Amino acid sequence: MKKVFKLYNIFIFLLIIFFIGLSFIYEKEENQLKINTLNKIQTQSKYINEYFLINKAFILSLKNSLLGNLNIDNLVHPAFGKIKNKEKKDIYNILCNVNDIKSTLNGVGSLANIDIDTIQEINSILYLNPLFKTILNSEHDIQWVYYSSKKEFIYIAPTNEVWDKKFLKYLYTKEFWTEAIPSNNPSGELILTKIYDDGAGKGYMTTLSLPIFFDSEFRGILSIDIALKTLNKMINNIKLPGKIYLTNEDDLIISSNQVFKLDEYLDKKHITFSLDLFDNKLKLVYIENKKNKILTILLNILPIVILLLFSLIIVYILMHQVLLIKKIKIIANKDFLTSLLNRRAMMRETIKQLEIANRYNLKMSLLLLDIDFFKKVNDTYGHQAGDLVIQEISKILAKNTRESDLVSRYGGEEFLILLYNTDVDSAYLLAERIRKEILNLKIKGINSSLTISIGCTEYIKDESIDSFINRADCLLYKAKEKGRNQTIKA
Ligand code: GH3
Ligand code: MG
Ligand code: MG
Repeated sequence: MKKVFKLYNIFIFLLIIFFIGLSFIYEKEENQLKINTLNKIQTQSKYINEYFLINKAFILSLKNSLLGNLNIDNLVHPAFGKIKNKEKKDIYNILCNVNDIKSTLNGVGSLANIDIDTIQEINSILYLNPLFKTILNSEHDIQWVYYSSKKEFIYIAPTNEVWDKKFLKYLYTKEFWTEAIPSNNPSGELILTKIYDDGAGKGYMTTLSLPIFFDSEFRGILSIDIALKTLNKMINNIKLPGKIYLTNEDDLIISSNQVFKLDEYLDKKHITFSLDLFDNKLKLVYIENKKNKILTILLNILPIVILLLFSLIIVYILMHQVLLIKKIKIIANKDFLTSLLNRRAMMRETIKQLEIANRYNLKMSLLLLDIDFFKKVNDTYGHQAGDLVIQEISKILAKNTRESDLVSRYGGEEFLILLYNTDVDSAYLLAERIRKEILNLKIKGINSSLTISIGCTEYIKDESIDSFINRADCLLYKAKEKGRNQTIKA
C-alpha cells in the first residue's frame, strides 16, 4: 500500500510537470503567434500606408499644377475652343480624346453665360490632362480622377458620356463634394470620405478629396476615387484567421475582411492590435478569433506535447521499474514469514561486517538460537501455531537488538544474530535476556512454555565466517545436550 502511494505521488508529480510544461509551451507558442500576427499586419500596413501617401502625393501635384495654371494670365488650352453647348441637356461639354485615356468636361448651363474666372479655371484644369492620365495609369487601380468646380463644371477622367444638367447637379450631393466643402471641412484639409455608392455606377468607393482655394476663395475640389474592392483586396492579402478592419479616425469602417454596413462604426472592445496609418487618418485594426487562435496554437504544439507526454510516460515507467526492483531486492533479502534477514542476505552482510571488524579491530559476537522441541509444538498445536511461534520469537529478537546488529532466520526454527561491536560477555547477557523473555512468552492457544537453546561466541580476528558460525553451532549443540533452555558461551 505504501509503495502504491509512492507511485501515485510520482504520477501526480509527473502530471503537474506535464501541465506546467504544457502551459509553458502554450505560452511560448502564443507569443510567437502574436509576433507573427503583428509582423504580417505591420508589413501590409506599410503597403497600405504607402498606397495612400502616394495617392496624396498625386492629388497634391494636381493641386500645385492647378494653382500654377490659375496664376497664368489668359491661359488658353487648345481644347477649349472645341467645347460645345448641348442644348437639350442644358450643359456645355467636351470629350477630350487624347491618347489612351479619354477625359470629359461637363458644365451646367450655356458656354455663353460663363464668366472670365470660370474660363480661366476651365483652361487651367484642361492642362492637367497628362497628370490625370499618369494617375490613372499608375498601378493604384484608381477609378476616377476629377475636378468639380464650385461653378458647376466637372472635369473627369476616364470619360463618362452620360451627362445632363440633372446628373451634374446630383453629383454635387455625393460625399466627395459634401464632405470636403468648407462648410463641412473648415480647415480645408485632404479628406477621405466614407464608403458610398458611385454616382456613375462603378460600385462602392471612397474618395480622397482636396478643396482648392485660389486667392483665399474656395474654387472646387480635386478628387481621386478608390474602389472598395481595391481596399478589400489589400486587407484580404493579410492572411490571418481574425477580423481585420481599416477604419477612419472616427472608427467608421472603410474596409474589412468581414461583411460590414456602410455606416458601421467599429466596436473597439475586443481589439487585439491597432496601427495608425496615413497621417493618423486611418487605422488598421486586428481582432483575433479566440477559438481559432487556441486551435492554431494547439495544432502547432501538438508534436512537442506528444513528445513531452511520451517522455513523461517513459519516466513514469522507469520510476515504476526502479521501485519494483527495490521491492524485489527487499523481498529477496527478507524471510517471508518473519521479515528478518534470510540466510543468504545474512551471510552476505555478515561477511561485510567481519571485514570491518578485522580492519578496525572491533569485537563481534554471534548468537545461534534454536527453539527446543519445536517438532512437538507443531505436532501438538499444528503447523500454523508453529508459524505463529516463529513470528512471535522473531519479534522478541528484533526488539532486543540494535540497528547495527544483524538478525536472521537461519533455518526452520533456527536464528542467527550478529552483534556489532559486542564482546562475548555482553552477548551472553543479551542471549540470556532473550531466552528468559521467550520463556515467559504467552501465545494464544499454546499452553506449554517455549524454551530456546543458544550458542554464544566472539569473533576471532581473521577467522573465516564458517569457522565463526561452526563454533556457535557447536555451543548450541552443547546447550541442547546439557538439557536445553540455556546459553553456552565460549
Ligand atoms: P530440538 O530441541 O532438538 O531442536 O528439537 P526440535 O523438534 O526443535 O528439532 P527438529 O530439528 O527435530 O525439528 C524441527 C522442526 O521444526 C521440524 C520442522 O517441521 C519444524 N519447522 C521448520 N520450519 C518450520 C516452519 O517454518 N514452520 C513450522 N510450523 N515448523 C517448522
Ligand atoms: Mg533445529
Ligand atoms: Mg529445535
